[in-house]
Amino acid sequence: RGSEDAALSLPRDSRLGGLIAPGFDEQSCISRYQSCHFRKPTPHSPSSYLLSRLRKYEALHKRCGPNTALYRKSITQLNSGHSMNLMECNYVVWAPFNGLGNRMLTIASAFLYALVTNRVLLIHQTEDLTDLFCEPFPGTSWVLPSDFPVKDLSSLRLGTEQSYGNLLKNKKIKQDAKVMSESLPPYVYVHLQHDYEHTDRLFFCDEDQLVLKKINWLLLTSDMYFVPSMFLIPQFEEELRWMFPEKETVFHHVGRYLFHPTNAVWGMVARYYTSYLAMAEEKVGIQIRTFSWLPISSENFFNQIIACSRQENLLPGINLNATFAASRRDKAKSKAILVTSLYSEYYERIKSMYFEHTTATGEIISVYQPTHEEQQKTDKQSHNQKALAEMYLLSYCDVLITSGWSTFGYISQGLAGLKPWILLSPKDQKAPDPPCVRAMSMEPCFHAPPSYDCKAKKNVDMGAIVRHVRHCEDVGQGIKLF
Ligand code: GDP
Repeated sequence: RGSEDAALSLPRDSRLGGLIAPGFDEQSCISRYQSCHFRKPTPHSPSSYLLSRLRKYEALHKRCGPNTALYRKSITQLNSGHSMNLMECNYVVWAPFNGLGNRMLTIASAFLYALVTNRVLLIHQTEDLTDLFCEPFPGTSWVLPSDFPVKDLSSLRLGTEQSYGNLLKNKKIKQDAKVMSESLPPYVYVHLQHDYEHTDRLFFCDEDQLVLKKINWLLLTSDMYFVPSMFLIPQFEEELRWMFPEKETVFHHVGRYLFHPTNAVWGMVARYYTSYLAMAEEKVGIQIRTFSWLPISSENFFNQIIACSRQENLLPGINLNATFAASRRDKAKSKAILVTSLYSEYYERIKSMYFEHTTATGEIISVYQPTHEEQQKTDKQSHNQKALAEMYLLSYCDVLITSGWSTFGYISQGLAGLKPWILLSPKDQKAPDPPCVRAMSMEPCFHAPPSYDCKAKKNVDMGAIVRHVRHCEDVGQGIKLF
């Protein structure tokens, strides 16, 4: 009770406008209550409907979570060979695929899906995901118990026989809303990875959701933020509208609600923030990410970053004529630039630029980069911890420049509640013109949404159906909430 009372007595802001439920032990997850002190209060409040739905979800999760009688009952059903009508608890089991940013976006999407379908979200926590996130729901766990009977959760893929798409293709399941639960399999795998096919994409149809509703266990893998298409499913639309009257705040609220770095990660974040960033009057984050399928030389990309920051007045220019300008620390504005990248060369170039020249504005610039891991090592836990720490550090910046296509950047902008300037993808290995654009909303982009209109039974432009779902700035075929 002691810590619960302490948490209740915290100002509303420390509980993120009511997102954080009472009942947590503060010391076991310090970030949950401290993170808000590192950034300005968000102007976006969660709706009271969202808060009431979260409290209802937490109660459901506690009733149905691991080690409860109802969980055991559901495991018995899972082993029975078919689904059952009127089970008290139904589940979505999320399994990881791709990098940490992708994983966080898909956990958030799966959680929102669980919320609107009254399911309980459980996470298949592989070794590389341990000690990253605190438990998000009080008095229970979201970690799937290790004795879960379906064993091959790490190899779920397009070809998996039990996927909804393959079950439909092989006529093992009927797209019939009147079908009985007992004639449906005990679980279905929902394949929402970027290589998904037409029958997998029927997940986003109203009729198919009525069938999926009758299946007690859904296993899900994805590497995409599929929330925007959930807003286009008629039976979810109203509920989502009530939860998020401000459409562009979905990840902002869900991300802040779900993801709290564990004390090990928080130590890195807090030490770095206090040592290097806290004193600056303005913090500019530059998230630098390149992809092998969008090649550009580091020289060209560096020039693109500088061109963007000049054009948009994000970083001061340098004065090539003056060799020395006495800056009075008490008068001049101090700006910290936080660079995140797998490589150190961009940081070195930016640092050298401000070391060798005075700024045209007299601002005092300091440049920092916490790590440069050289390679993505998603199966390594300590590597993921650092990635998470850097996403958080970026989210404490006042201004963000992010790389197009990168889910790593999407996480930071969403947590921060900022519309970043997005560095657009290269064309023919050269920087595009313009080098960057301002994001229209802080929401992540759904890179490969379905384009099938389930009712009209034809392909349509999903970015042109409703006012609040538009094509993304960085990924032309993608859609995002606006
Ligand atoms: P995306 O590939 O940019 O969409 O982002 P993901 O997070 O899904 O995958 C990229 C992974 O590469 C990250 O999770 C990290 O493991 C690693 N990575 C990429 N950029 C950085 C960086 O700036 N800092 C750190 N620490 N890791 C990075």
